[in-house]
Amino acid sequence: MKESRPLEGREGLEVYLRYLGETVPDLALPRVSASKKKEESAGRPGEGDMSTLKSPSGPSGGSFPGGALTGSLPGSLEALAPMVAECRLCALSATRTHAVFGEGNPSAALMFVGEGPGADEDASGRPFVGRAGELLTRMIVAMGYRREDVYIANIVKCRPPGNRVPEEVERAACLPYLRQQIGLIAPKAIVLLGQTAAASLLGRADGISRLRGRETALEAFPGIRVMPTYHPAYLLRNPAAKAQVWADLQQVMGWLGKERG
Ligand code: SF4
Repeated sequence: MKESRPLEGREGLEVYLRYLGETVPDLALPRVSASKKKEESAGRPGEGDMSTLKSPSGPSGGSFPGGALTGSLPGSLEALAPMVAECRLCALSATRTHAVFGEGNPSAALMFVGEGPGADEDASGRPFVGRAGELLTRMIVAMGYRREDVYIANIVKCRPPGNRVPEEVERAACLPYLRQQIGLIAPKAIVLLGQTAAASLLGRADGISRLRGRETALEAFPGIRVMPTYHPAYLLRNPAAKAQVWADLQQVMGWLGKERG
């Protein structure tokens, strides 16, 4: 039997980029110039440096303070979803079309967490269905999974108007839902997509360009391995960063003993 091993080096990058419909770029990609780093930090809301974000200090010490819901949430995803659909805990409920609970395999070994719904997600009630979602789906396939094999969720369940970054009070109100989802799904690994997801769950104000590519953990879920990486929306604007994301995803594949077909 073939040994389980994620594809590495140029061979792996070529396979990954073929899934993404890209040609193989100059492999001197991971080097990010100072001006590029600044651009990343100042990029799309939610992906930039959130050094202005107050460092969270909840009871768990590793994330935002829990909302009033902590400890009183349903013990199944089926029961939690309608609660989210009716939720009015923060101002985002006033402008949403649909709350976007999340979707996927309730026993997934791998979970992806993004920032929040955009216009397409708000309209459909499903996470990651726009252009960034299509790219995420191709990334998942490149890892050797089907989209339905993994679980996909967001930090906030309702779309911030104009796709702005969700405010701290909104993230604090919504995070108990995500924590409950993580606890119920109990994945082996979580990929945090972008600055908002990483900062919110890790309780760190570092920019995503510093956090990505380094294994970390959530204090409340010590058995789950966590990998921050760039958000697919960032990759749509900065295709060169796909090589870095592929390197990050390969680490995750290694954790999961994933063999590509
Ligand atoms: S964003 Fe979260 S906390 Fe706010 S209304 Fe939606 S589901 Fe409730």
